[in-house]
Amino acid sequence: MSLIRVGHGYDLHRLEPVAPAGAGRPLRLGGILIPSDRGPVSHSDGDALLHAITDALLGALGAPDIGELFPDVDPANAGRDSADFLRDAARRTREAGMRLTSLDATVILQRPKLAPHKPAIRALLAELLEVEPDIINIKGKTGEQIGPVGEGRAVEVHAIVALVGDTE
Ligand code: MG
Repeated sequence: MSLIRVGHGYDLHRLEPVAPAGAGRPLRLGGILIPSDRGPVSHSDGDALLHAITDALLGALGAPDIGELFPDVDPANAGRDSADFLRDAARRTREAGMRLTSLDATVILQRPKLAPHKPAIRALLAELLEVEPDIINIKGKTGEQIGPVGEGRAVEVHAIVALVGDTE
């Protein structure tokens, strides 16, 4: 008999001109550097896609959320590679006897277009999560030029995961 658990993660980061023009860090999504004149203002590296997926896994496990595990007031997390957070969630998943069987995420970003970067993002996520790339799907949308996301002032991500494990 198998146990199925679903988790949802969400993240948003404010975008500003990349330093030295502004306070933005280089734009990273799914661990991939995306050429952009605007980037996230954040304590860690500000990778909203990795943060949303991490929270989706933690949610499915019933674990504390990413902000509780990796507080943004902890100097150890300053500028930190968000892949560390995702690896931690993947380790917790394995330790719980669960296996990731599906990951679907939507990145809402006015510009630049996400499409050219999707294959690299998918490949890196598969490596970090130790899964086959075909269970990963990344979708890109714009904010239709309205609201903070549509005006290029924020990036938003939703992610959902399904985990399967064996019950005793
Ligand atoms: Mg975040």
